[in-house]
Amino acid sequence: MRRHGPVEYEIYLIGLDQQLCDGCRRCVDICPVDVFEMRRGPAEVVRAENCLYCRGCLGVCDPGAITITEI
Ligand code: SF4
Ligand code: SF4
Repeated sequence: MRRHGPVEYEIYLIGLDQQLCDGCRRCVDICPVDVFEMRRGPAEVVRAENCLYCRGCLGVCDPGAITITEI
């Protein structure tokens, strides 16, 4: 039987302070859904909509360049 009810969406805003980023690539390597990319220079947020809020990137970013806000 199909159930009808509210559907919950969680959206995460990802901040990345490129002034703080030291280019270690750990966020790129640990994120399971490819939110980050590094081309030239510091990491960039390229697929924020993929974020699962696993917090892996927060744990590996030593300079604290990444912030995630749930909205
Ligand atoms: S983990 Fe932090 S310091 Fe390392 S590349 Fe990502 S944003 Fe930059
Ligand atoms: S919280 Fe997890 S899914 Fe979201 S950007 Fe960080 S590593 Fe990727």
